[in-house]
Amino acid sequence: MAFDALGLDPQILSALKEQGYTTPTPIQAQSIPLLLEGSDLLGTAQTGTGKTAAFVIPIIQHLLSQPKSNRRQIKALVVTPTRELALQVGENAKRYSKNTGLRTAVIFGGVGQTPQVDLLTRGVDILVATPGRLLDLENQGHADLSNISHFVLDEADQMLDMGFIHDIRKLLKIIPAKRQSLFFSATMPKSIIELSAQILRPNYKSVRIAVDKPTAERVTQCVYYVSKKEKPDLLLHLLNEMKGAVLVFGRTKHGCDKVVRMLQNGRVSAAAIHGNKSQNARQKALKDFKAGEVRVLIATDIAARGIDISGLEHVVNFELPNVSETYVHRIGRTGRADASGSSISFCSADERGFLKDIEQLISQDIDLVREHPFSEGAALEWSDPENRKPIKQGGGGRGQRPQKGSDSSRPRSKDAKSRSARGPKRKW
Ligand code: AMP
Repeated sequence: MAFDALGLDPQILSALKEQGYTTPTPIQAQSIPLLLEGSDLLGTAQTGTGKTAAFVIPIIQHLLSQPKSNRRQIKALVVTPTRELALQVGENAKRYSKNTGLRTAVIFGGVGQTPQVDLLTRGVDILVATPGRLLDLENQGHADLSNISHFVLDEADQMLDMGFIHDIRKLLKIIPAKRQSLFFSATMPKSIIELSAQILRPNYKSVRIAVDKPTAERVTQCVYYVSKKEKPDLLLHLLNEMKGAVLVFGRTKHGCDKVVRMLQNGRVSAAAIHGNKSQNARQKALKDFKAGEVRVLIATDIAARGIDISGLEHVVNFELPNVSETYVHRIGRTGRADASGSSISFCSADERGFLKDIEQLISQDIDLVREHPFSEGAALEWSDPENRKPIKQGGGGRGQRPQKGSDSSRPRSKDAKSRSARGPKRKW
């Protein structure tokens, strides 16, 4: 099926053509007809599947068919958990509506509000926002949400992880009850299903894309056992062997900064993106990375979830995430659209439980790279029982299922269940 067959406005079709899109991705092919009919939608989709266009295109089509009012009113509201994702969705909405005369604005915290107030005053049709700043501006009378006819909650699971539930509840009291609602989440734990029931009309439609295989199929995955101490050296060693841009994930802000300093000392251009950085610094780091001016971007999960970096080939998990679903999101930064990618994970002795959890979630063993210059150090670290104690954190750890954001309701495959009963297959 081609986009032409969906009955879309010629202005939208010409914008899609300009983007080089000819065929809808599976989530687009399934969602767009349902959304054009006016249904509410619960979407579960693999990362990098073309989710943004799946919801933005029908919204544009609906807005184009609404009678024009004298004054621009906010008709569509997209709420995202992070500022970076808001910017990215906003950019896509602008591209897809380029020829239509519709106006899109993006608002988020961490920067001055005056330019955002100016945008709202001039009039906006599609508003993309993070919850806190949106409620602030609504409270101050700058954002009128009383005419919303289309509401999208994107990356709902991360929204809950980040503690936005109260903001979402407040928002639901403000926006009109009569609306089309779209609810997207990469995972569907019980808490998310409950939240979706408060947002969607009972006759909503569901679209699930490859939920049982959450790992992007085109991404090759491998893991290195390495001692905590030698992770920086292994990273430098691999950077010498790899070509192109590399996105490195760390668990803590402090840890990310340390990796940046180490890389810069090793004459590798690197920048960090995490919650302690100013919004301007975050945007600059991302922009420089996308432009190829910085080779390595070191990020925490909060900052990097959902961002789309076209052509990114390598993701390195410098530290494994304690919530397994996060791994899927991380490696989904590469292998987007029809590109291929690679994910390399570093696993120290105290992270072995995290690796086990991840392998259970994705129902596959990640290839172990046995021969590398730092394998001896890893074996030494592993042989000391003290070092095998799990990292003390809110969730996860050896033998524990992660709590926050975990998908306890996800049915595991038979394979994964029997593997978990046998215990980890590999030894150091
Ligand atoms: P998303 O999952 O929305 O972040 O999209 C992932 C990537 O796929 C983005 O770089 C989009 O520009 C691209 N994309 C979305 N829809 C299509 C399509 N129908 N054909 C080709 N590329 C697409």
